[in-house]
Parts: sequence; C-alpha cells; structure tokens
Amino acid sequence: MKYISTRGGAPALDFEQVLLTGLAQDGGLYLPETLPRFSADEIAAMAELDYPQLAQRIIEPFVGDCIPAADLQQIIVDTYAVFRHNAVAPLVQLGHNQWVLELFHGPTLAFKDFALQLLGRLLDYVLERRHQKVVIMGATSGDTGSAAIEGCKRCKNIDIFILHPHERVSEVQRRQMTTVVGDNIHNLAIQGNFDDCQAMVKASFGDRSFLPDDRRLVAVNSINWARIMAQIVYYFYAAVALGAPARPLAFSVPTGNFGDIFAGYLARQMGLPVARLIIATNRNDVLHRVMTTATYGRQTLEHTLSPSMDITVSSNFERLLFDLYDRDGAAIAALMSDFDRGDIQLSDAAISRARSLFSSYRVPDEETCAQIAATWQDCEYLLDPHSAIGVKAALASGLGAEIPVVTLATAHPAKFPQAVTRAGIGAEPALPLHLVDLFDRRERCEVLPLDLSAVQTFMANNLGA
Ligand SMILES: *Cc1c(COP(=O)(O)O)cnc(C)c1O
Repeated sequence: MKYISTRGGAPALDFEQVLLTGLAQDGGLYLPETLPRFSADEIAAMAELDYPQLAQRIIEPFVGDCIPAADLQQIIVDTYAVFRHNAVAPLVQLGHNQWVLELFHGPTLAFKDFALQLLGRLLDYVLERRHQKVVIMGATSGDTGSAAIEGCKRCKNIDIFILHPHERVSEVQRRQMTTVVGDNIHNLAIQGNFDDCQAMVKASFGDRSFLPDDRRLVAVNSINWARIMAQIVYYFYAAVALGAPARPLAFSVPTGNFGDIFAGYLARQMGLPVARLIIATNRNDVLHRVMTTATYGRQTLEHTLSPSMDITVSSNFERLLFDLYDRDGAAIAALMSDFDRGDIQLSDAAISRARSLFSSYRVPDEETCAQIAATWQDCEYLLDPHSAIGVKAALASGLGAEIPVVTLATAHPAKFPQAVTRAGIGAEPALPLHLVDLFDRRERCEVLPLDLSAVQTFMANNLGA
C-alpha cells in the first residue's frame, strides 16, 4: 500500500514511513493511494468477528507487507486488551433507531485511546526493528495529551513531551497526564495559553536542531494517518451489529478536527452502507458554516462545555477536499495556499458532492445541557457534553424515522463533570473504578516559562539513553 500527499508534491511513502511522518513535505496530509474495498459478503462475514479480529481484517490491507500478519495481530490484541469492556466498543440503545456507540472504555475515557493505544505500539515495534529512538512532541488542551501519554508509556524507544497551558486544563485532564509513571514521559506546563503551546511545537518541528541528529521528531496529532486508520474499525463494528450490509445506517459524529468523521467516510468508501454522516459541532462551527455556505473560513475561538471540539480550523478536512476535487493535488495546494491568506469558496461541484453525504448541525452549550437532561429523563443514560452534541444532531436529522442512527459517544461523562452539573439533573458522574484514586496519585510536571529555548533545552537534557 502506497500513501500519497493531498497536495501532490511529496514522495509516495509506504506504511512504515507514513507512521513516522506527520505532515508531508509539501504541507499536505497523507492518504492511501487506493482504498481496500470489501464486498457485501465479506462485510456480512464480519459480524462473526470480535473487535480485535475485525480490527485485524480492516487494518491489514493498510499495513501491507510492512508488518508480518502474526506480529500485527499481537499488537492489535495487546492494544484492545487494555479497554475495560469485553465488547471494546459497546452499542447502547437510547430510543427507536437511536443508538450510541460507547468509545470511552479505554484508559483515558475518550475515543482517542482507540488510535493512540495502537499508534504507540506500532511505533515502538518499527523503532525496535530499526534500532531507532524518536521524540514525540505535542501540545494539548486535554484529551490528546493524556491519550498519547497512556499510549506511549510502555514504549522503550519513545520519549514523549506534552505541553499544556499551565492552570488552563481541567483537573481531571491534568491528572490523567501528570500521574502516569514512566521515565520517558514528560509533562510540561507552559506559562501561556494553548495557542502558545502549539506555536512552540510548530517551531520545534520547523527547526529540530535542538535534538541530536539520530532522534526524529514525531507528531501524534490527528494528521497522523495511523490514527485515522484505527478509527475506521468501529464504524464497521457498529454497522454489522445493526444489520449491515443488508441494512444501511447513519452516523452522527461530534466533530472538531474532522478526523473521527473522516474515518466514517473512509468506511463508506470501503463498501460499508453508510447512508449519511452527520457533522455535529459546538459553537466553533467552521464545518457547519462550510456545509451551509460553501465558504471555509476561520473565526475566533469560543470556549465551550465541549472543549475537545474547540477549534478554529479542522485540519483533516483537507483530506475530504482532496476527494471532493477529484484527487487533484495541485488544486488542493492552490486552495490551501488561498486559505492561508483568508476565506475560501468551495466549487459548486465540490460542495454538492459533500452535501450528498454529509449533514451538519451546530449545538450551543444551552442545547447541549438540555440534551444531557432530556436523555437522562428519557432513559437514565448520562451523556458527556461531546456525545450530547452528537445525539442532539442525530435527533434533529430526523433520519431515525427510516434507518438506525448511531451517535459516537466520544467521552465518558465523568471526564466533563461541569456540563453534567450544569444540566441540573442531580446526578454526579462517577469516575470508573480504575481512576477512583486519581486525585490521590502523585503528579509529575515541569512548569516552564513561555520561552522556546527553555523548553527545547529541557527536552534535550531529558532524553532517555
Ligand atoms: C478529540 C475529540 C473530539 C473531536 O474529534 P475529531 O477527530 O477532532 O473530530 C470529540 N470528542 C472528544 C471527547 C474528543 O476528545
């Protein structure tokens, strides 16, 4: 399997190379040159597979001959063994044709564990084989950092440095990062905001001279192809459980960077009968605006009760644009360079293609809380605010009258207690058993000034041997 850049100006890579690469040299994002396609019979047969077996079936063609099948299988089995539910991704019914797919049974209680638990193991496997070590550097406002740290904590060949804005992430989220024990784990609390952290990461990727020559710098944000790949699996898992391929269905996806929902789009391209994909956003509605107006443009960031979707630009949207523009890399390069200067307008053909599959809804905080309360009253089921946005959009779509609609429940409600409290239902979401002592565990974190050279010096001085 070969991977190509959305901007058409970077060399094609194999799976191993793409795993170790973030952005392509031309600024684009990597995608498979061709997608594997499953027939209706092959999809029907998937209903017999448990989650790790299905993951093997979906992921194998993407990995190609880079990893022997038996080794890949072991990696996948180990990855999903850390999830605390036998089904890994259980479905729960909320109403007639309304379902939620619980993606929060991993170690950090958000769907990012599905991809980052796998990514850490895949990286460590190929690094061991290459006798190489890498440095992971990332900025987080919450979920990505903890999932990346949990995913890398056992990796001998990875030093991980996660920057978060000092005193600006929730206590649960901070403790999920700072209480993980491992010499290769480094939490840096930066005296600045999230954008400052991200700017330091970007600058470090631009000039890596602060690291020794033999240490590659690797990104773990959702531009990494392996993360998208891992997320395709649960779309198949839910769909076959609900009667695919005989019965088509729709998915509602709480969306920020367009990574999770893009995996659903790929599942459809691979043969799954996905009738509709619903983009559910909070007030940071860049995707809802492009769907309704055909204009893709930045707006100022709003802080909401669903902070993991607080973004101004959806980086993975470029991957969809690539298909909407007939995989014309030059057209995407031109479009994205216009976007660097201001808003862009999608062509009529591109937007009508997008609208034929995607719908979008924007759900402000008041409606998010109202949905948490309504679902609690209807079935005593507690939604986290991100999932509540998805359920609200699923109901608003009216699709449930005809086909099953599955909302991806992207986080456990105990991770975002503020929204649940605000919903005023009198229920307090409790942390799962493995985290009940989270507030008693020792924290390890370095507070550093908003100074790039201080951060880089700290990193260089704290690399493992
Ligand atoms: C990251 C995240 C999202 C958004 O996912 P994208 O792939 O960026 O669209 C939604 N909900 C939760 C809880 C998240 O952590």
